[in-house]
Amino acid sequence: MTAPPAAPGHAGPGFWLLLLGALWLAGCTDAPEPDTDRLTFYAFGTIVDVTLYPAGVHDLLRIESELGADLEAMHDLWHAWEPGPLVRTNDLLAAGEAFSAPPSILTLVERAQELDALTGGLFNPALGRLVAAWGFHQNEAAGPPPTPATLAALLEDPPRMADIEREGTRLRGRHPELQLDFGGLAKGLAIARSLERLAELGVEHAIVNAGGDLMTMGRPAHRAWRIGIRDPRAAQVLASVELGSGEALFTSGDYERGYEWEGERMHHVIDPRSGRPARGLTSATVLHDDPVLADAAATTLMIAGPDAWPRYARRLGAELALVTLPDGTVELTPAIASRVEFQREVTSRIRTAEAAGAGLTR
Ligand code: AMP
Ligand code: MG
Repeated sequence: MTAPPAAPGHAGPGFWLLLLGALWLAGCTDAPEPDTDRLTFYAFGTIVDVTLYPAGVHDLLRIESELGADLEAMHDLWHAWEPGPLVRTNDLLAAGEAFSAPPSILTLVERAQELDALTGGLFNPALGRLVAAWGFHQNEAAGPPPTPATLAALLEDPPRMADIEREGTRLRGRHPELQLDFGGLAKGLAIARSLERLAELGVEHAIVNAGGDLMTMGRPAHRAWRIGIRDPRAAQVLASVELGSGEALFTSGDYERGYEWEGERMHHVIDPRSGRPARGLTSATVLHDDPVLADAAATTLMIAGPDAWPRYARRLGAELALVTLPDGTVELTPAIASRVEFQREVTSRIRTAEAAGAGLTR
């Protein structure tokens, strides 16, 4: 399959130039149309960009203060290493005594347990210690990577989400090395909660975009939300996709948090099988109406790698998925192929779970 021509009929080249520039600058969000208002926040280590439609009808000051407070609260609640509720939860889990956990941490534990089970442990938010050992539990990710001996110890009997017993609101840890890190799915929940708050504040049409991961609510009257998917190896948009109401688009990539170590890129998506940063894909994008699933699935596909990703996509119910390979090739599920429009010449191929073979590698 070759790339279809860029730019659809309804928009002139000037529009696209503007759009692509804005897509890049704004972390691949919607065009800076004059019929929208925008607010910008900082949370979860990234810019959170909120687009509201139509322009001029919202109480922007109130939205800014209420949504800003929510984002700050969620940031504090789910932070994996700054002292706060999750760090306290991790201490209590490690101690092995039953305790009452905050409701939103329970929600994430529940989702993480489902996702860990569904992915055979490829997506495992109980591996906070492993992520920390790679130098990702600090604001500026940095080496050195764990020594072979440290890695071997961490991989000997690694904790799983099933090592947390859940009874109502009470949790009990059953593994001394269990350490929760919700970095692979919390942004999905944060974006969902932000849209709920916007709805409470009277907003009907919006996008919440946290560093390129986003979800829509409603849609403008006479156009779709047009979103760019970032090219992992270039400062440009790889493809665009039109989103309707209630669609989430999440991307996991090796270009996000990471550092160079002895000529190798060490990024923050860790493959539990090797204990090392996942290899074989440069990015994975998932479109789904459940933002937590989209977030976790994008991370899982990165880990699953170039051979197995279609099977994991199927397993997770992520029928709309796209991955990029180190040589620039794009692979897509049949369902997303009809929705994306490449913005440059791209070698691409469709992959199906059936052709990727039966069974999961784990
Ligand atoms: P994302 O940017 O959504 O792909 O998430 C990456 C984040 O997920 C990392 O910064 C870690 O916090 C977390 N993470 C890394 N490896 C895994 C894994 N194997 N399972 C679940 N979460 C992970
Ligand atoms: Mg994710």
